[in-house]
Amino acid sequence: MKTPWFTEEHEIFRRTVRKFMETELAPHAEEWEEQKDFPNWIFKRAGEMGFLGITYPEEVGGSGCDYFYKVVYCEELPRSGCGGVNMALLVQSDMGSPPINILGTKEQKEEYLVPIIKGEKICAIGVTEPNAGSDVAAIRTTARRDGDYYVINGTKTFITNGARADVITLAAKTDPDKGYDGMSLFLLDTDLPGFSVSRKLEKMGMHPSDTTELVFEDVRVPKDKLLGEENTGFFEVMINFQGERLVAAISAVAGAALVLEKTMEYVKQREVFGKPLSKFQVTRHKIVDMLCEIEAARHYVYHCCWLFDQDKNPAKEVSIAKILSTEMAVRVINQCIQLHGGYGYMREYGIERAFRDARLATIGGGTTEIMKEVIGKMIGL
Ligand SMILES: Cc1cc2nc3c(=O)[nH]c(=O)nc-3n(C[C@H](O)[C@H](O)[C@H](O)COP(=O)(O)OP(=O)(O)OC[C@H]3O[C@@H](n4cnc5c(N)ncnc54)[C@H](O)[C@@H]3O)c2cc1C
Repeated sequence: MKTPWFTEEHEIFRRTVRKFMETELAPHAEEWEEQKDFPNWIFKRAGEMGFLGITYPEEVGGSGCDYFYKVVYCEELPRSGCGGVNMALLVQSDMGSPPINILGTKEQKEEYLVPIIKGEKICAIGVTEPNAGSDVAAIRTTARRDGDYYVINGTKTFITNGARADVITLAAKTDPDKGYDGMSLFLLDTDLPGFSVSRKLEKMGMHPSDTTELVFEDVRVPKDKLLGEENTGFFEVMINFQGERLVAAISAVAGAALVLEKTMEYVKQREVFGKPLSKFQVTRHKIVDMLCEIEAARHYVYHCCWLFDQDKNPAKEVSIAKILSTEMAVRVINQCIQLHGGYGYMREYGIERAFRDARLATIGGGTTEIMKEVIGKMIGL
């Protein structure tokens, strides 16, 4: 047995995902980066390939696979060369849709989860607001009950897929005086009157993905779009974060490993002072140091994936994994830029983009500092 995690079937799946990333997405990466946009057919193609429902049950169109197929998928994503597209796809499969799978009624699953898995509907997750990011309980968007409707008012910011989403898994306060205990989740159709995308935000990296500011003005959402029970949304958001953080951790390790792979090729062929850069001991040691960091993070992340797959809620381990992997990726890719010299700073080598894209991961889905707060609490500090 080469590894306890991956079987021959996983490796066959890996080859399929890799081929898709390298032949169907990577050739467009530059163009989408330039355009700061990508076409929506990607969701449909990813749906056809079965990538959007890897672990979801077969009844809703998923493949019902174990979590290590998801790991394989996330590990191959960086080969698209397009972090923005990868993030948009992960929002679809691992951030916006899991609450529907866990909490949705049969009707909600049929109306939303089935087309999301097919890539026919695009989804987003709407939690963050201008005054409430890390402090999720402080959100101010309200959902006031009015007969058979909830009337939604408020603003969300930094919402990935916000400009293209058909449906948003939205957090809003149903009992604004209650803090944690007054939040609920809704399925909000973006064609409802009163919903608008007020801005597409310019950002450091992940350029092709849309990051948006959304406004809700008296949006009347039918009461059967409540997801789960009223006033339990905060805990549902916290549980959803575990899967989101785990795919971020897997992708961060894979992204760093891919950049290191390219850097190894580069230092072998780049000559300085009459010999390849790789022949300098300092270079070799830098490469090996990075490899050690990557492999240590990788195996800790695998351990968390296994825990997660046992249907446990390993918040402490996932938080540790997110810190280890995302902070490591930023350090490693930064060092790889250094080893490329001036070429690392040039766009055509793709390393500077990998750095800009990777930088998000220590912030999005819970910052490193918030991860430390979670761990601190869980170890009794
Ligand atoms: C490109 C991008 C895409 C995103 N996509 C989505 C999305 O699709 N949906 C969504 O809902 N959100 C999304 N987000 C939001 C993201 O999850 C938040 O940015 C993140 O949770 C941090 O919140 P904040 O930006 O408000 O920072 P703040 O909460 O204001 O934090 C500012 C700083 O204070 C630190 N800090 C906060 N609290 C503490 C504390 N208790 N102790 C110590 N330090 C602390 C933070 O670590 C950080 O360094 C996205 C963000 C970005 C940048």
